[in-house]
Amino acid sequence: MNTRHLIFIVNGNGVRKKDYYEDASISPNTRRIAEEGFVFTEDHCDSVASHCDALAELLDDLPEHRYLNFSWSDTVPALMQELKPRILVLHDTTHDVGHDAYKEYLKAVKETDDKVGRLFNWVKRDPCFNSNTAIVLRPEFGRDDEVNRGQLHHSEGFYYAHRVASIFWGPDFNRGEDRKTVINRLDIAPTLANLFKIDTTRRGRVVPGLFKT
Ligand SMILES: [Zn+2]
Repeated sequence: MNTRHLIFIVNGNGVRKKDYYEDASISPNTRRIAEEGFVFTEDHCDSVASHCDALAELLDDLPEHRYLNFSWSDTVPALMQELKPRILVLHDTTHDVGHDAYKEYLKAVKETDDKVGRLFNWVKRDPCFNSNTAIVLRPEFGRDDEVNRGQLHHSEGFYYAHRVASIFWGPDFNRGEDRKTVINRLDIAPTLANLFKIDTTRRGRVVPGLFKT
C-alpha cells in the first residue's frame, strides 16, 4: 500500500447521492474526485433515523483517528503538516437544516462541495501529501426522495434515504464505478482500515474490487 494518510469526509449528516454525486451542477467538486476515483453507487444504510447510531457504525471500528468538524476545514492543511495524522475524520453536520427548509439544505450541500473542492486542490498540489493521501467521502445516510412541505427529512423506506454513494480517491484505489455491488455502511471501517493493513472485520467486510492488486 502507498497510502500513509487518509482524510475521511463524512460529507453530511443525511445528504442524498442525487445531490452530492448524481448532479454535477450542484456538486461539481465531488464529481471531480469521483471521476478520478472509485464509486460504489449502492452503499446501503440499514438505519436512517439516528445520526449518532449511523456515525458510530462508520467510526467505531475505524483505527485510531482524529476527528474535526468540517466547519474547521480551513485548518486541515496546517493540522496535516503539524500532526501528520494517519486518519483524519472530517464530519459535516450542516445538512440537517433540511428538517427546517429544503432550500437551506441545498445551500449546505453546495457549501460542503466548495469545501471538498478546496481540500482536494490542496492535497493534489501539496508535495508532501499528493502521492500518499487518500480521500474518501461517505455520508451517514441519505435523505427522503421527496421534499415534504418545503422540508427534507430522513425517513425509513425511501430509496435515497437508505442508499448513498461512497467515493474513494487515492493511490491504492482503482478508478471506476460499481453500480451493481451492494455494500453496507458497516463495510466502510474495515475497508478503510485495510489501507493500513489493520484487520477490523468484526462486523463488515473489505469491499470487493476497490483496491489495486
Ligand atoms: Zn436529522
